[in-house]
Amino acid sequence: MARCRRCRAYINPYVVFIDGGSRYKCVLCGVSNEVPQLFDWDSVNNQPADRWQRAELNHAVVDFTAPAEYLVRPPQPLVYVFLIDVSFSAIQSGMVATATRTILESLERIPNADNRTKIAIIGFDTALYFFSLTSETTESSMMVVSDIEDVFLPKPTDLLVNLTECRAGIESLLGRINEMFAQTASPGSAMGPALQAGFKLIVSHASRVYSVFSAIRC
Ligand SMILES: [Zn+2]
Repeated sequence: MARCRRCRAYINPYVVFIDGGSRYKCVLCGVSNEVPQLFDWDSVNNQPADRWQRAELNHAVVDFTAPAEYLVRPPQPLVYVFLIDVSFSAIQSGMVATATRTILESLERIPNADNRTKIAIIGFDTALYFFSLTSETTESSMMVVSDIEDVFLPKPTDLLVNLTECRAGIESLLGRINEMFAQTASPGSAMGPALQAGFKLIVSHASRVYSVFSAIRC
């Protein structure tokens, strides 16, 4: 995108072309700038282009996808961590069944155009329940961390998994969580440690943590 060599203003619909169109006058500071090479060239289709069709000469506001040189690191995949309260009252109130069903029905709407989106599910009552998933099987294994004073991740991989690759396993797990904890008698809700665990999972990603917990207490 062409910018003024003196004031760095972007080229825009109000600039005036001079010297037969080879230069333009900056509308902010008045300096004369060279029109960039290939300004009249369509580099996508590799053919001559009409500069007056260019978005930046027709609209005052234009969004461009930032190229790599504008990024300090490659774009990170989207990461979603769901923390689900699986304590007695959460199960009894029907919250867990509703939450897991809702997440299941929402998987399709999670942005994942590039198939890089990652997802993790953590259950909690007085302990934390991690679920390990792989793309090879729809089975998941559950790991219980009962030391909530000093939260740690029970394994380094397979807790935060690729939504596309592990879709079958994620769906199967969401379908079973309510049943898995149906017999629980645990009254506690280690929400804080669950959040810490979620944070540890996502710390290197741009991400969101969703926490579902029951407000009903016995
Ligand atoms: Zn200028």
